[in-house]
Amino acid sequence: MDFSLSFEQDAIVTSLTDFITRELYPHEKLVEELRHVPAEIAQDIRQKARAAGFGAMNMPEELGGAGLDYETLMQVERVMGKPSAPLALLVRRPTKILLKCEGQQIEDYLMPVIRGEKEDCFALTEPGAGSDARGIVTKAERDGGQWIINGVKQFISHADISDFIILIAVTGYDETPKGRQKRFTAFLIDADAPGVRIEPMKSICTRGYNPNMIYLDNVRVGDDKILGREGEGFNFANDWLYAGRVALSAHCVGRAERIYDMACDWAANRRAFGKSIGEFQGTGFKISDMAVDIKLGDLMVKEAAWKIEQGKMDRRESSMVNLYCSEMVFRVADNAVQIFGGMGMMEDFPIQRFWRDARIERIWEGTSEIHRDIIARDTLRSYRN
Ligand SMILES: Cc1cc2nc3c(=O)[nH]c(=O)nc-3n(C[C@H](O)[C@H](O)[C@H](O)COP(=O)(O)OP(=O)(O)OC[C@H]3O[C@@H](n4cnc5c(N)ncnc54)[C@H](O)[C@@H]3O)c2cc1C
Repeated sequence: MDFSLSFEQDAIVTSLTDFITRELYPHEKLVEELRHVPAEIAQDIRQKARAAGFGAMNMPEELGGAGLDYETLMQVERVMGKPSAPLALLVRRPTKILLKCEGQQIEDYLMPVIRGEKEDCFALTEPGAGSDARGIVTKAERDGGQWIINGVKQFISHADISDFIILIAVTGYDETPKGRQKRFTAFLIDADAPGVRIEPMKSICTRGYNPNMIYLDNVRVGDDKILGREGEGFNFANDWLYAGRVALSAHCVGRAERIYDMACDWAANRRAFGKSIGEFQGTGFKISDMAVDIKLGDLMVKEAAWKIEQGKMDRRESSMVNLYCSEMVFRVADNAVQIFGGMGMMEDFPIQRFWRDARIERIWEGTSEIHRDIIARDTLRSYRN
């Protein structure tokens, strides 16, 4: 087995690392303070990223993307986990759900997103349904040739800067052997459509990559705004969901590497009792544990990317890598705070930001408890007599 990066992967990782170090890191402090990326900075980064060949790296070449395979893409995601989330968002890797676009949707939604002209967000969670996604109640009801949509979505990332919403709504019920089940459908809803109201929420993590409430009050759309087929909602989401969990895991590995680098630098140079603090076992063991933790996460991501590429990824595997990496980055960030001591708590130092930002990874894309539940259920199924 060869775990080393290919020549092409290494070249992409090196040039992308140079790009984020030069173009993104210098804005992190300002974005954190403002809680948004100023428009001129956003525009400048988008343009430079496209010019450097980093536009829509995950999209097929025939659509203007880079057509990278999953193993290379997850290396890209590892690098893109290092800068703060609102700045990383500007180096576009559009959601693959949009490849379901057909007819006019391709020109209205998919292509503008690939070209970096439009931003999208994904709205599933509601005030009454987070982990229990099938509990959503946002309804789309037929009215002649149209759908009327009513409901409330909660925590929707960067809806405040999105041009349209990929919205999951209930469009009816099916009688199944398991009883009456909701039918879920994905819609493409323009953010400025009559009846749509978006209100930013204030979060302590990933400032500038804001969660939002979305209120839908008698929003009218035609069949042409259905993404995929009516009732297809969760079915087509699975492949995308697994890849999303592995991408999150790759982000966690990348961020943990950046935190680790800072912690090692501090441990090697901060002095106490006449020595560098890294020479004390209490600090040195933390450095060792962090290194092992990151290495395991990295190997899990590499294996998971290979499995996606081979079509071998499943729910249990995607939960395992997500669970490990999201908890790993928090352990690493927490150890780093301890190594920095009082400085770890100071706003002028980025360590406290990494620590706050690491906390969300155990909640979005499924909480740690939900992933443990999936792993246990899917494991025990094969042991049942
Ligand atoms: C900053 C941020 C950004 C987000 N972005 C988006 C977005 O862009 N789009 C979107 O659709 N959603 C988004 N979310 C929502 C996110 O996916 C949910 O917060 C997450 O799924 C958990 O749902 P919840 O917050 O309602 O918690 P709940 O589901 O209420 O869970 C609360 C607690 O109960 C536990 N729990 C619940 N059920 C079980 C169970 N069966 N077994 C064991 N424990 C259980 C959970 O693990 C958790 O500890 C975002 C959330 C945040 C905070």
